[in-house]
Amino acid sequence: MQKKQQLCILGATGSIGVSTLDVVARHPDRYGVFALTAHTQVKNLAEQCEQFLPQIAVVGTAQAADELSILLKEKHLHQIQILFGPEALCAVASANECDSVMAAIVGAAGLPASLAAAKAGKKVLLANKEALVMSGQLFIDAIKDSGAALLPIDSEHNAIFQCLPGNYNRQPGQHGIHKILLTASGGPFLHRDVNTLDDVTPEQAVAHPNWVMGRKISVDSATMMNKGLEVIEAHWLFATPAEQIEVVIHPQSVIHSMVSYTDGSVLAQMGNPDMRIPIAYGMAYPERMDSGVAPLDLLKVASLNFIKPDFQRFPCLQLAYDALKEGKSAATILNASNEVAVQAFLDKRIGFRMINQVIEQTLSKVAATEALDLESILACDAEARRVAEAMLSS
Ligand code: NAD
Ligand code: MG
Repeated sequence: MQKKQQLCILGATGSIGVSTLDVVARHPDRYGVFALTAHTQVKNLAEQCEQFLPQIAVVGTAQAADELSILLKEKHLHQIQILFGPEALCAVASANECDSVMAAIVGAAGLPASLAAAKAGKKVLLANKEALVMSGQLFIDAIKDSGAALLPIDSEHNAIFQCLPGNYNRQPGQHGIHKILLTASGGPFLHRDVNTLDDVTPEQAVAHPNWVMGRKISVDSATMMNKGLEVIEAHWLFATPAEQIEVVIHPQSVIHSMVSYTDGSVLAQMGNPDMRIPIAYGMAYPERMDSGVAPLDLLKVASLNFIKPDFQRFPCLQLAYDALKEGKSAATILNASNEVAVQAFLDKRIGFRMINQVIEQTLSKVAATEALDLESILACDAEARRVAEAMLSS
């Protein structure tokens, strides 16, 4: 029998983490769980520990660790080691006992541990797009230098990965690639009168028409910053310039993205909008296995529509393209100010249309630098957050 692949799931209690564990539970013969991590959702993590029996569980703080310890003792799970804090996340992501790391922490908080997995030569299943957006070349170099495998979990990038040739060597010119066509749902406000966008509530913004996701990415989908971050993510994953990455709105979310070739062929990957498909693909690659998702019923879908994105309605998409073109640490500033603005919107401190303004102003106030190492990237992230926060308090 083949040795079980040992997984570390960073962000196990989140939307992606839960879907990953759903896939794991379908294949107990193929996967073991080495470590599970969560920030504050201690109760959920304890339940996951009971079901999946990891060697290590990691939480955000000493207090959360104490709470988890009590819950695990009640469940007689004395053998599970409990750790806490950012260094513990890096430790489990790079531990010898672990083969694959699902990077599913939301936001910049996931960068150090995702990068640690890349440096340690793990099979990195990357959902945490913000980590790659912030670190770009540094992350790609870490993967190359260590011989790690990088499997995109974001559904669009997973689709593109599936539509690229098997011998793809990150040089699109050599494979007859004309363009990457990144599909977007358009989010809940695709057809809403732009002048009423300031009235939308966080609850309306997180109610995505096709996908069930965490709150931050749901707001990003409503502003289309999610697609902007994905353009940058595609640039790094597939070594493709901004001009060759085109966003197409496809409200049904059935085609998850496409690759257009110079001979006129367009390859698309399709499926029901359920993240267990890209997760199972990444986990089993290069094989395929059951993900628990029903086959696509094309007759039920009936029609597929495509719309050109309106950059006036979705200014965040333009800001992301501009940041990618500017290069240096502009994408880190974009990402950090977006995280601050989205949180402020969720906390009802600012209106929906202020999100893009906070980002734009932060980008104009913080100079992009040649951020080469993790330390300088994190310093740039902190500076952008400080400037964005100051703007909110003024
Ligand atoms: P989520 O909010 O549902 O879950 C986030 C997870 O990260 C939780 O387990 C939480 O405990 C952990 N976490 C939060 N802050 C942390 C911190 N400071 N330190 C350590 N852990 C922390 O988010 P999600 O929707 O599962 O998204 C996770 C990542 O995957 C994001 O980067 C998102 O962009 C990406 N992604 C998600 C989807 C989706 O369908 N949900 C699709 C594509 C990509
Ligand atoms: Mg996506």
